[in-house]
Amino acid sequence: MPDYQTIKKELEGIAVEDNPALVRQKSRDFYWYSPILKAQLDNVTADLVVTPKNEEEVIRTLKVAFAHGVPVTPRGGGTGNYGQAMPLSGGIVLNLAAMNKIKEIHPGRVICEPGIIIAQLDKQTKAHSGQELRFHPSTAQMATVGGFIAGGSGGVGSITWGGLRDLGNILRLRVVTMEAEPRVLDLTGWDLQKVSHAYGTNGIITEIEMPLAPAYDWVDVLVGYDDFMAAVRFSDALAKCNGILVKEIAPIAAPIPHDYFTRHKPYIRKGQSVVVLMIAPHSMDAFLAFAAAHKGEVVFRSDTVESMKGIPHAYELAWNHTTLRALKVDPNFTYLQVQYPGPDHVAKVAKMVEIFGDEVPGHLEFIRFDGQIQCSGLPLVRYTSEERLEEIIRIHQDHGCPIFNPHRYTLEEGGMKRTDKVQLAFKHETDPRGLLNPGKMIAWENPDFDFDAGKNYLFPGLASVM
Ligand code: FAD
Repeated sequence: MPDYQTIKKELEGIAVEDNPALVRQKSRDFYWYSPILKAQLDNVTADLVVTPKNEEEVIRTLKVAFAHGVPVTPRGGGTGNYGQAMPLSGGIVLNLAAMNKIKEIHPGRVICEPGIIIAQLDKQTKAHSGQELRFHPSTAQMATVGGFIAGGSGGVGSITWGGLRDLGNILRLRVVTMEAEPRVLDLTGWDLQKVSHAYGTNGIITEIEMPLAPAYDWVDVLVGYDDFMAAVRFSDALAKCNGILVKEIAPIAAPIPHDYFTRHKPYIRKGQSVVVLMIAPHSMDAFLAFAAAHKGEVVFRSDTVESMKGIPHAYELAWNHTTLRALKVDPNFTYLQVQYPGPDHVAKVAKMVEIFGDEVPGHLEFIRFDGQIQCSGLPLVRYTSEERLEEIIRIHQDHGCPIFNPHRYTLEEGGMKRTDKVQLAFKHETDPRGLLNPGKMIAWENPDFDFDAGKNYLFPGLASVM
């Protein structure tokens, strides 16, 4: 057992918290979205929370942790929903929230610290020079830029810009290694893929350079359809329409909009499916003409509603906020993350709707993927049992719709179900003792793990807290 009193002494001058209730609070994320992760991770907690103010304090903390063999799990806003930021082996949670400054803003790019809240960053770049991040997760009001890069994938704006995996959507990352003498590395180009979406398992991000796009006062719009597939076809046509500038297109099936979008309920009929949209103000006339031609009923516009007081942003109805809103009303829901590869993505969605009906109410996000328009989905699932959930996953896969399983805490099982050799090789260089966010990279913990054997990975360190 590490000597935490000595560790605290060695970290003198850096903010350290050891009150068990507060440490436990900062050891959680949105893992409870999944009934499976909830059962597995409920008792996970760290021993200390360390909150560095700058890169020098990060280096000092890692040095001390390395010397004592203590695991370190970085944390941004704690909005990840697969337990990414949860310290499976205890140790230190490294809370980056105080490293929240913007350093420089230039035409087309910003340099910032990792702990800045995304909405705060957009506010400052907009005030400075009318710019904003190309895309953000729907958690922009709570999530940090560092957490998004290390744990997220894409979001509001991905219809135009694709995702974080696309070259050019992150410009540069500065990373501190977990060694006796931590090094500071600057990564650009393909090297960025070593640490982006690596859950902080192979370096702590301390500085970020991101590209910016022109900022607009995006208009929130909801378009209603009596039939979900009509809403999907409208969304697909709009996504492919060259001239109308949109930031978000998300068709969401009945009964979700009326029953779970409580603040928008007065505008939505029972049984109505809606498309959640964000449109640039100067595109509104063209958009309204387009919607009329597609027999869409515009049921809500933020630019004409009497007051937006108490009404959430449209993007907080979309992405994983759709799931959150349903869960708040009915805790028996869970969800999946599905890809519907094009060009027949609409036909694939139609097939899944036909098979599952109301057991899996539809929710799609239209995105640009490898230069083409396609959709991914975060459908809700009326949860009955783990076996049925697995069966639903299998049926999707059998119909050519891959699942990124949100009920797994490891990088591989939540992603492509294979070793990411680039991230693994980088971990050998940057974290030789395997102290960064242990348990999240199977390839490190168990190089012989057979992804095709149909078994789920259970991190041995978790057995003691389950
Ligand atoms: P955290 O949850 O704190 O951390 C995420 C991961 O990054 C963890 O593994 C952590 O260890 C690591 N990490 C954090 N900071 C650093 C750092 N400085 N260096 C190295 N590693 C670090 N995701 C999307 O991609 N798009 C969405 O639209 C989206 N919508 C969501 C909606 C809801 C309601 C919820 C609950 C989640 C959603 N997510 C989405 C998932 C999550 O919110 C995003 O990935 C978010 O950007 C995470 O940011 P965070 O600051 O909360 O990170």
